[in-house]
Amino acid sequence: MVVGTNRPTKLIIDRQAIKNNIVNQQAKLNDGTEIFAVVKANAYGHGLVGTAYTALSAGATGLCVAILDEGLELRRAGITEPILVLGITEPEQAALAIENDISLTVGSLEWFKRYREIQSNGDVLKVHIALDTGMGRIGFRDTDELSKALNVVQGEDFNFEGIFTHFATADEQNHDYFIHQYDQWKKLISVVNPLPKYVHVSNSATGLWHTNIAGNMVRMGISLYGLNPSGKVLTPTMNLQPALSLVSHLDFVKQLHKGESVSYGATYQAAKNEWIGTIPLGYADGYPRAMQGFHVIIDGGFCEIVGRVCMDQLMIRLPRKLNIGTKVTLIGNDGDKSISATDIADYVGTINYEILTGLSDRIVRKYI
Ligand code: PLP
Repeated sequence: MVVGTNRPTKLIIDRQAIKNNIVNQQAKLNDGTEIFAVVKANAYGHGLVGTAYTALSAGATGLCVAILDEGLELRRAGITEPILVLGITEPEQAALAIENDISLTVGSLEWFKRYREIQSNGDVLKVHIALDTGMGRIGFRDTDELSKALNVVQGEDFNFEGIFTHFATADEQNHDYFIHQYDQWKKLISVVNPLPKYVHVSNSATGLWHTNIAGNMVRMGISLYGLNPSGKVLTPTMNLQPALSLVSHLDFVKQLHKGESVSYGATYQAAKNEWIGTIPLGYADGYPRAMQGFHVIIDGGFCEIVGRVCMDQLMIRLPRKLNIGTKVTLIGNDGDKSISATDIADYVGTINYEILTGLSDRIVRKYI
């Protein structure tokens, strides 16, 4: 992986924003409820290790990742707080999790059976049991299977550390499916006795719009980064401060004559003599190719993206001749104008999560 430390395109991560988001979420929770920062997928593009340390310093007491390797990277960086892998890890890799004190998610009896077959010594594995209450992804779905799993996980080879579920519609206006899932949760959890240390049902949306429901830990993902899980559908119940800005500068400026065109496919023709600037950022950096026609901010004003976004460069129409080196904001604020990852997501027909996690490792991350 090559990181572009020698080009002007940068992701600027505001640590204070992440801290404020955690403090604001904590203020909404019952006393004793913990926050685990969800830092999977390179901390939603914000940088795994830098974000993890920032979140822990603001009061998060643990971290969630999607795959074991992300947890191992955090341990290599010296982090000692609890780490939970939310996805399924192959039983063959469980020894690595034990060695590094990383907790694994288990969602089937089959997993325990396979683990038993290869388990070689008496080491204790930390386990969170996943319950599928309607997400349809991973986890136990009925009380019989769950009871069998509890018999196993309450044995001496395991530290039954947590139990959880994940809501599919916590970010939606209509609560019917959420309530259906919560009813399923109550049915399943009724056979769990004693409860483990962590009982967790909340993602960001649940932490924003359903704070009255059970659990003693929130898995805080997108709201940690200051973005609204619902896009623009629901109003957040706390102040969310976006932590990430994407900035660059003009590295080429020229005048096009009326009728001359820009970029692949020659899809844009200058309507009159126009100043066109080039920015060193493209779809290989995770800035979508479909952004043609959207805008960036220069000097507090919007400038249209003209022609197709290329792999490593894109072009914009300038209001006048501007100097090479002029700052360009692609995500963030400049003057009274702003562009959010949600604006970009709406433009290309996706969700802010996909925009953030798609920002490639080629863009250097700077923490302020
Ligand atoms: N919990 C689980 C199981 C997840 O898969 C995710 C993210 O996809 C989260 C929590 C965090 O979700 P969000 O970013 O919506 O807070």
